[in-house]
Formats: sequence, structure tokens, C-alpha cells
Amino acid sequence: MNAIQKISANLSFDIGSIPTDLYIGGKWRAASTAQRAEVIDPSTGLTIASVADGSVEDGMEAVAAAYAAAPAWATTAPRKRSEILRRCYELMIERKDMIAELISLENGKALSDALGEAIYSAEFFRWFSEEAVRLNGDLYTAPSGANRILVEHQPIGVSVLVTPWNFPAAMATRKIAPALAAGCTCILKPATETPLTAFVLAQIYAEAGVPDGVVNVITTTKAGPVVSAMLHDPRVRKLSFTGSTPVGRKLLHEAADTVLSCSMELGGNAPFIVFEDADLDAAIEGAMVAKMRNGGEACTAANRFYVQKGIADAFSKRLAERMGAMKVGAGYDKATQCGPVINKTALDRIAGLVTDATKRGAKILTGGAPLDQDGFYFPPTVLQDVTADSHITAEEIFGPIAAISTFETEEEVIRAANNTEFGLISYVYTRDLSRGLRVSEKLESGMVGLNRGLVSDPAAPFGGVKQSGLGREGAHHGILEFCETKYIAVTW
Ligand code: NAD
Repeated sequence: MNAIQKISANLSFDIGSIPTDLYIGGKWRAASTAQRAEVIDPSTGLTIASVADGSVEDGMEAVAAAYAAAPAWATTAPRKRSEILRRCYELMIERKDMIAELISLENGKALSDALGEAIYSAEFFRWFSEEAVRLNGDLYTAPSGANRILVEHQPIGVSVLVTPWNFPAAMATRKIAPALAAGCTCILKPATETPLTAFVLAQIYAEAGVPDGVVNVITTTKAGPVVSAMLHDPRVRKLSFTGSTPVGRKLLHEAADTVLSCSMELGGNAPFIVFEDADLDAAIEGAMVAKMRNGGEACTAANRFYVQKGIADAFSKRLAERMGAMKVGAGYDKATQCGPVINKTALDRIAGLVTDATKRGAKILTGGAPLDQDGFYFPPTVLQDVTADSHITAEEIFGPIAAISTFETEEEVIRAANNTEFGLISYVYTRDLSRGLRVSEKLESGMVGLNRGLVSDPAAPFGGVKQSGLGREGAHHGILEFCETKYIAVTW
């Protein structure tokens, strides 16, 4: 049995059956240069597929296909669009186990996390199938009484969607579903590390009745030039990006040239605050979810634990016991609770953060160093007494490391929590509801989990403040990101 056959033995599908070419105008085709890019299984470090490595020319063809499909899709009845989106949801749910295995295969996350993602990503189609027929405008009388003010929401136009590897399905559907619901056509540029999930979902959209050219998928190792060319094409009217803050900043500069509408979902550095009056059992459960969902590779991952002095030792000890007991292994192995990180670069970066923190005085309660085996494994790690000057408190960890510091007063912890350029999400645990709400309002983040370790919900507005982003995805806000507001002054 060769290596690929061994990996395949864990899967219910044949890796060779997954499409690997560009999806443009409803057709699968190789890149114009015939170049290919390798896809690696992080659980073994082995190459599992090679996908088309799209060029600038391919990107332009995808724009042309999306532009050609735009007028018909924009004028398709909302009910029809809604039913197609609903069908996407149903097909994704029917195939959720296969989608989960594929996510685990190319991303490395534990199968249970991948199944959670498969369902979460399908839910965006269900939610936006409902929003597609509720895109209401306004009609009111001008204060002068001279005319009526009519306001409607029109599709913004061809949208470029760029997504990261950490949620290969959900970050794509969180954009595609609202774009299609609003009547926009799009080009998805998935992360180079995880293109296969995007291709399988494209097959599902076609099967559900999404017309040719409405969704196009282009993979490339030349993300900079390919995306830049698309953003400079006047036929493109929207960029929706999810990824790191440094790349987000670059793309905002690019988008300035054509004054492009931008929605940006960027990096996070979430504080997880536990007050002495918190329900400790609930705080530990919440911490496990907020830290360990996707092995810590989530923009919402708890990055900095601030625990009030009186319970800091008890909290740290219990968290270390829980994290230390997690089964680490291949993502697609059913027993695994914590899979590998995405690649060697990530593994080395995380190891560097732990070394820096310990040099500055942090104590390792469990884990602490990469595992010496094939694949990219870092064991769940708990660090106590992390100092404020450690790199781990300033940077997004994106791995299974809990960095714990202590605090004494409410004012002190709010100051520490807000001392970052990021502002995506914060977590607060306390039994005192008025304190919980008071602190939540003072935290500089777009979202707060108050006595909850999980906030993601297609029905809620997801997004950050400060350098964590612009705009919101999900809820009714999500569809408005793909609309232009048209005001018509009417005299009758
Ligand atoms: P990344 O910024 O490196 O890449 C994101 C995407 O941008 C990929 O498709 C990549 O190929 C592309 N890209 C890279 N350089 C580019 C360039 N110069 N021009 C155009 N495109 C370019 O991020 P990543 O490592 O894939 O993902 C992890 C990051 O994503 C983390 O910072 C995480 O917090 C963030 N993230 C944010 C959210 C959110 O909702 N706020 C959700 C998930 C992930």
C-alpha cells in the first residue's frame, strides 16, 4: 500500500475523484500556463493532490465570466434565487460527512470540528435563502413634504472573494451565500493550502442550479498579482476578504485605486476574562471551546487568558488537565481531538512564541514543544504567568496554546484586554450580569461571548473593530455588504 492509499483507507471517498482544475463560466479547465500547485495533508506532510495554478489571464477570464452572468442573475426572481440557495444547503447537509472528511484531509482539523464546520457552512445557504426574499427598502415622505424618498438595495455587482485555509468551507459560503442572495456574481480565490473543499462545493452549487458563471473558483500560488489584476478591473465592484491583517492592509491599498467597496474579516487577539465570581466549570468548558475549536486555528480563538488572582491557580490547573488529556492525531482519525497545525512554518512560529514566553518567565503546565513525528503536531499547551511583554500576548497564536496571566481589578483587565491593535472578539465569564454587560460594552471588540465560548452563528453579525476588520458577515448585515443603496427622489 502506498502512502496515498494509506490515507485513503481513512476516507469514504477517493481522493482522485475531487476536481482539481479551475472552475470558470461553469466549465472545469486547466490553468492557461498548465502549471500545478501541490496540496499537502498536514496530518502526514504528504502531497495528496495537485491543483491548477491560475495565472493573471485566468483571473481575467473568471472576471469576464462573472460579468457576463451578472445581468441575468441580478434579474432572476428573488424567490428563484432563494430556492437555489436552499438546495445548496440541502445538498451540503446530505454530503456533510464527506465534506467534513475532505476539510480534515486538507486542513488537518479534527473530524468533529470539520463536521461542525460542514454544518455551519451549509447554514449560511439556509440563512441567506431566507434573506434573499426579505431585501426590503424604504419609502417615506421628505420632511419638506415636497416629494417621497424611495430607497432600494441593488446588487453591487461582480465580487472578488478571497478566503483563508482555517475554515475552507465556511469562510467561502459566508461570502458566496449573501453575494448570490443579493443578486451578485462572484469569483472565489480560496487559500492555496485548502482548495479541494472549494472545488467540491462548486460542484454542489452547479448541481443545485446555480447558473454558469455565477460562481467561479480560481486557485493560484500567485495570489498577489492575480487578485491585484482582478481588483483593478473596472468590471469588479466588490472585495470581500477574510485573512490576516497584514494581507488585509495590502488589499485595502490595492482597492483604493478603483475605490472598491471592501468587507474585511481580519485577524484577532481575543482576551478571555474570568472573574472570581465566575462559574468555574462553565469557564473551563467555555475555555476549551474558545481555545481548542479547530485546534486553536480560529480568528475567534482565545489568545490571552486573564484570570482574576483568587481563582488563577485552580483555573490554570484544571485547564491544563483538560488540554493535556486531549488525543492528538491525524485530523481524519475519528479518535482525534486535536489535529496538526497547517504546515511547518506555523509549527515553527508557534514553537518560537512558546520559547519566547518561557524565557520571559512563563511556566509550562502541559505540552510545550512540537511532537517528533511526521506531520505538523504541536500538543495542547498551557502557559502560566505569561508576562505582558511576551510576543504571545501581542500576536495571534493560531495554535493550541493557552497563555494565562492574572489580574486584580476590573479596570486593570479592561485596559490590558484593549491594549492591542485587534478587536475581533472577547470572552467574559462572571455570574454578575451587570458587571458582565458593563465590561462587554467597554471591550473594544466587534463581538463578545458573555459566559459563552462560542459565538459564531449565521444569524448574528460577525466582524471586528480596529484592525480586525470592516463590515459584518451573517445576519441581515451580511446581505447588505453585497448591495448598493439606491435613493430615488419621487414627485407624484
Ligand atoms: P492570509 O492573509 O495569509 O491569506 C488569506 C487569503 O489571502 C489566502 O487566500 C491567500 O492566498 C490570500 N493572499 C495572501 N497574500 C495575498 C496578496 N498579497 N494578495 C491577495 N491575496 C493574498 O491568511 P491565512 O493564513 O490564510 O488565514 C489566517 C488568518 O485569517 C488569521 O489572521 C485569521 O485570524 C484570519 N481569519 C479571520 C477571520 C475573520 O472572520 N475575521 C476568519 C478566519 C480567519
